[in-house]
Amino acid sequence: MHNGFTKSASLYGEASRFIPGGVNSPVRAFKSVGATPVFIKNGDGAVITDVDGNTYIDYVGSWGPLILGHRHPAVVQALEKCLRTMGTSFGAPTELETELARLIVEALPAMDMVRLVNSGTEATMSAIRLARGYTGRHKVVKFAGCYHGHADFLLIKAGSGALTLGVPTSPGVPPSTAEHTITAPFNDLTTLKEIFNQIGEEIAAVIVEPVPGNMGVVPPAPGFLAGLRDLTREYETVLIFDEVMTGFRVTYGGAQVLYDIEPDLTCLGKVIGGGLPVGAYGGKKEIMAQVSPAGPVYQAGTLSGNPLAVTAGIATLQELKQPGIYDELEAKSARLDAGLKEAAAAADLELTFNRVGSMLCMFFTGEPVTDFDSACRSDTEQFARYFKAMLEKGIYLAPSQFEAAFMSLTHTTEQIDRTIEAAHASLKEIR
Ligand code: PMP
Repeated sequence: MHNGFTKSASLYGEASRFIPGGVNSPVRAFKSVGATPVFIKNGDGAVITDVDGNTYIDYVGSWGPLILGHRHPAVVQALEKCLRTMGTSFGAPTELETELARLIVEALPAMDMVRLVNSGTEATMSAIRLARGYTGRHKVVKFAGCYHGHADFLLIKAGSGALTLGVPTSPGVPPSTAEHTITAPFNDLTTLKEIFNQIGEEIAAVIVEPVPGNMGVVPPAPGFLAGLRDLTREYETVLIFDEVMTGFRVTYGGAQVLYDIEPDLTCLGKVIGGGLPVGAYGGKKEIMAQVSPAGPVYQAGTLSGNPLAVTAGIATLQELKQPGIYDELEAKSARLDAGLKEAAAAADLELTFNRVGSMLCMFFTGEPVTDFDSACRSDTEQFARYFKAMLEKGIYLAPSQFEAAFMSLTHTTEQIDRTIEAAHASLKEIR
């Protein structure tokens, strides 16, 4: 039984009086699917409940962090203890920060040192500053459809909300800033080699989502990441893996562990904060030694490494470190993937399914999706109808074609099968 969205609609109206677009991050507004955002009352495991009393099986998971589900007991207990015995923030070092840093560094062979920040945006912005400071070069290469947060020079042909809302380059980004950012097609080494042939010596960094999840999910073609590694090494360009989404998501550590590629710098966020605001950037000692106060490249933060956020991160990584966790996540994700493919076949719809571990995506196109252009061939109106049909059946998906669905460890077989059933009905409805 669905209770409708009356209370959500009313709260959204009120929010829109005080907050631009009624939300604190654009995609939350459900604008691209032409729906009213659902206001959440609470979450428990894989289930969220809205203010009208509707419950949903959640595949957003706060856009990736909640790999353990909502209110995981280990995270809640650790947070409660921290609050009761320690406090929220000191702006002075605590032992907890070293503990999280050690867990992260031990998980990533390419990382010797790490600096904690408060968001993915801060991580990528700081990593680029560091790469520029380290190399003394200005230019940065990114890939079309990859999203690296909302720093000016990275908001160019970006994915996620910037893509969904059709704002490839936001007003407010001066041309002089955009001028140093070069955009290349993902999975295309030939174009990248041409760029390096021309201006390789001026390129400070290449930044890439090793598994892009912000134009929907697009797996790297075999050899692409290795080619990227070789090319950047040849030109002494800093290779930055933006693993804000993939870090501790596609396997313990991240995509660099899964594909066995060692970047020079890595950006993290989402999962390492266990649902609290955390980001991180780190890498080779030689480069990290340039970060202030060890070196001259400035970067700071009032709340960076605060005990609450770090505690949630430590508790999350300790759970994820248990043997068999990622196999379990893989089995759940494979079950959903297979079920959705059957549902599409039963509805006689030709769709494209991309998945890397617990990041899944169903594109409303029959053509393979390997980059930004092919992702854009998806029928977004059909996606919007599917999204709304699923929402009414109690399945909470990301409200855009150009996002991933995230499986959590708390999704049960029964919930996954219920999702597949809902997809069978929804895909038939929208056909
Ligand atoms: N990089 C990637 C790959 C991301 O997916 C995101 C957020 N979705 C960011 C950076 C920015 O992180 P945040 O929203 O925490 O600033």
